[in-house]
Amino acid sequence: MFDNLSDKLDKALHVLKGHGQITEVNVAETLKEVRRALVDADVNYKIAKEFTSTVKEKALGEDVLTSLKPGQLMVKLVKDELIQLMGGDVAGINLSGDPSIILMSGLQGSGKTTFSGKLANFLKTKKTKKPLLVACDVYRPAAIDQLHVVGEQIGVEVYSDRDTKDPVKISQDAIAYAKEHGFNVVIIDTAGRLAVDEVMMTEISNIHKAIQPQETLFVVDSMTGQDAVNTAKSFNDVLNFDGVILTKLDGDTRGGAAISIKSVVNKPIKFIGTGEKMEAIDVFYPERMADRILG
Ligand code: GDP
Repeated sequence: MFDNLSDKLDKALHVLKGHGQITEVNVAETLKEVRRALVDADVNYKIAKEFTSTVKEKALGEDVLTSLKPGQLMVKLVKDELIQLMGGDVAGINLSGDPSIILMSGLQGSGKTTFSGKLANFLKTKKTKKPLLVACDVYRPAAIDQLHVVGEQIGVEVYSDRDTKDPVKISQDAIAYAKEHGFNVVIIDTAGRLAVDEVMMTEISNIHKAIQPQETLFVVDSMTGQDAVNTAKSFNDVLNFDGVILTKLDGDTRGGAAISIKSVVNKPIKFIGTGEKMEAIDVFYPERMADRILG
């Protein structure tokens, strides 16, 4: 994960290792390389620039731990700033409803169906949770089949209704079904499209208004770099979602989405997907991610 970015940051931060003290010149030199590494990893230029100016101020400020050597100090400052940028603390999900309703949103292929299964499986292992998966992609019968396959694999019931093309009705009926049958979490998988368009946005927005979920999650493929951030913005403008799910972090992703998404939409990354299997789900820890990025 993030091999290229880690290498470049390591090289950039290495510059200071031979220096006895922090100076304006060596800080500027180092941070120029840090900024380049971030931009190469698909971090938006403005975010990368703000990032390095904050680190610069701290490095040259008086309130830094002077017991650290310049190289160590810079690593610490960069790490702290990466953690801040990615959200600081761990963000949980709200399961206070009865049932708790979780709505998945995102483009087709982002990993919504897979993640819906992973989350159901994750919650199932908490003994008090009984999740129901709901298939709301009324356009692609294959998508409904896919969710049934996932449900069977993890032993979680799937609600679907192939006789109606109305996803609002399906989700409302599914919630009523959950209440009747003792499910306390309802995970609704919706239809995505290949790019942001009005039909998809209107549909998801109608579902959102009708069912008022405790959690609206936006699922995004981390391999799509800056596009991931732009798509997040479009969905957030319409849904004001609660959190981001970053998928495919096991692939050859450059890391830009993980680093920039929080500061663009001001919503935390809650979980990450790290593979195709149902177990490949992790809670997102900004600090652990910063450690991985810094190698
Ligand atoms: P949806 O259209 O948003 O429902 O996306 P899917 O759940 O069908 O996922 C699209 C493809 O991405 C499938 O082939 C999944 O197996 C794959 N996929 C989903 N999440 C991950 C992940 O975290 N890592 C990897 N490597 N593949 C994933």
